Amino acid sequence: MRFDGSRDMSRAIDRLTRRLPEPLEDLAWISYNYLWSWTPGGRELFRTIDAHRFTLSGENPVRFLLNLPERDLLRAATNQDLLERLAQVAQIMDASMQRPTNRVLSSGPVAFFCAEFGVHQSLPVYSGGLGVLAGDFLKETSDQALDVVGVGLLYRRGYLHQRMNLDGWQHEYWLEANTDQLPAVRVRGADGLPVRVTVPVWDGELAAHVWRVNVGRTPLYLLDAELEENSPLERWVTARLYEGSHEIRLAQYALLGIGGVRALDAMGINPSLFHLNEGHAALASLEIASQTSKELTGDPLGLKKLLEVGRDRFVFTTHTPVPAGNETYDPDVFFSVLGRSIDQMGISRDELSSESRIDPTSTTESLGFSPLAIRCARSTNAVSKRHGEVARGMWNPLFPDAKLDEVPITHVTNAVHLPTWMDPTMRGLLTKFFGTDWERHADDPGLWSHVDEIPDVDLWRARCDMRLQLVEMIRSRIVVDRLGRGEDVALAESAFSAFDPTHLTIGFARRLATYKRLDLLFHDVDRLRKIIDHEEGAQIILAGKAHPLDYEAKNVAKNMFVVKRGLDIPNRVVFLEDYDLRMAPQLVAGCDLWLNLPRPPLEASGTSGMKSALNGGLNLSVLDGWWCEGHNGQNGWAIDGSVVDDAREQDERDAKALYDLLENEVKPLFFSRDANGIPVGWLARVRASLRTLGPQFSGARMVNDYVDQIYRPNH
Ligand SMILES: *Cc1c(COP(=O)(O)O)cnc(C)c1O
Repeated sequence: MRFDGSRDMSRAIDRLTRRLPEPLEDLAWISYNYLWSWTPGGRELFRTIDAHRFTLSGENPVRFLLNLPERDLLRAATNQDLLERLAQVAQIMDASMQRPTNRVLSSGPVAFFCAEFGVHQSLPVYSGGLGVLAGDFLKETSDQALDVVGVGLLYRRGYLHQRMNLDGWQHEYWLEANTDQLPAVRVRGADGLPVRVTVPVWDGELAAHVWRVNVGRTPLYLLDAELEENSPLERWVTARLYEGSHEIRLAQYALLGIGGVRALDAMGINPSLFHLNEGHAALASLEIASQTSKELTGDPLGLKKLLEVGRDRFVFTTHTPVPAGNETYDPDVFFSVLGRSIDQMGISRDELSSESRIDPTSTTESLGFSPLAIRCARSTNAVSKRHGEVARGMWNPLFPDAKLDEVPITHVTNAVHLPTWMDPTMRGLLTKFFGTDWERHADDPGLWSHVDEIPDVDLWRARCDMRLQLVEMIRSRIVVDRLGRGEDVALAESAFSAFDPTHLTIGFARRLATYKRLDLLFHDVDRLRKIIDHEEGAQIILAGKAHPLDYEAKNVAKNMFVVKRGLDIPNRVVFLEDYDLRMAPQLVAGCDLWLNLPRPPLEASGTSGMKSALNGGLNLSVLDGWWCEGHNGQNGWAIDGSVVDDAREQDERDAKALYDLLENEVKPLFFSRDANGIPVGWLARVRASLRTLGPQFSGARMVNDYVDQIYRPNH
């Protein structure tokens, strides 16, 4: 008997059902499955009932329905059009849930471990690209009907919110999630009590419950330490993502790795394979090693041997192309947090130290999870071709006998979940030419060749519609952002007419980290002004959050505010506060040009450019990460990705290349129109971009690659 939370889910759904008028009953189970968020028409159901309240609820349907006055529910229950659409959405979702499972391996599901999951804005357990990728991954496994389960942590205050002050300095705040109103349920065991796991941390026993979230067919299990029996410090372990303190992080990663395996055991889930998405969960290998050791008789095996025995059950994906990104820990700190846990598993601290060091013979090197993950896994992969090369170089010291190209690290290039990231406008247009139900086969290039049949007028109208929606969103957002910062009322109000729906609209939105080089755009302010401030003008949207302790990145944002003010065209360059999963789809859909300016080779993959491409945006990017594979000369623009040793020289060179492209190629192409006002040359590029990038960077391609190359390489 499995106590995997499905019964608890049914109970929660029954409770919500009882609140609803009979004709709306299907809304209860729909609300408890994020599949609604990528099913056509799903979001509109809730918006039709009350768009304003749905927004206020953070687009969390459970919270929305629990707080909706009864009279509004009764009114909705008589809306025939709504009921018809509800029946349609319910039918599509039900059909998806009823499909037979496509087993990855016969011996059990794949358990996908990650420290963050960006499933939806209403589930605040993500911070940036890694989490969004993990969320996209789970959604795609659901679409492909694969047996995968996700494992992560339920951060009660997971989500960092951003405010900028007048000077452009970032302030952050956290809101506590109300778990009672999340589309999540506490998993209970046979005795009716919550499933409880413990992991020795510091001098105590850190206890955690497990929550289940339905991401389509794929369950996501989140461990939660916010329990009365835990001390305030222990409870803090699942308070926030990526805490600054190494001790807290170590406790988090112990709960994720060791606690995650124990939680699956407690629920009767026996994975055939553990997929460590980034190294944070690498301690899972110790729990498996310890279990193996208990099953074996005879002489006790050392950790190295035990990891070898378990290797067939682990695969590892690395996302970090810089040594500094692979956090390491002082051994004293490491064992002050985790020592008792390690001892209780019967693992020698010295052996664990060796396995967690690049040089296993060192006694002083600090300890990291990436070396441990690489050693415990039968396969390690990077997330783009170029990142694979970088990772082989970076981890070559772990394989001292291997030549660079023999280092056993391969790559599966990232991709994005198409139904999440393609705007309904574009999805509707493509469906007319691709046929119904094409999304699950979005990795088929044959399908995408149909973009050539879309008439210019239709494609241009879709692009203009999406740009207009973005302009409208921006107008209302920046008035509020500016008033909130205490800007002049006149300046704030001028934003209401800001942004022109006919201008070339350029986007740059991602985590604010210095290597992403947002400042490159402002390298030559005079040149920038000429590009923007023109009758055939351009407008730029910026957004992104810095890690609270990344003062360098916060300074870049601050300087950008100063330069922006100096440009004196305040409504052509805007910074949108609090970039998140709600804002991102609107930006990637509405922008004509998407910029990515990383310092090569530091962009492992990058994914926001793929999202833009799916919506008919064009990429202008440094040839790094995914763009090395995506760019073909016709489907966007590229900046040389070679490395100059002197960083300032590199910035100089790359900024010049950026301005040259904007002045000489991008703008002329965008504004060169035929007699009907259509930019025929631009649209040819948009088609080339959709045709080539669509199949290559849709999640179906990525998940199929993982299944074929990583999960079952010998099939
Ligand atoms: C896609 C996405 C990212 C990652 O963008 P990159 O281009 O890979 O840096 C980060 N945050 C959010 C909210 C996203 O949607």
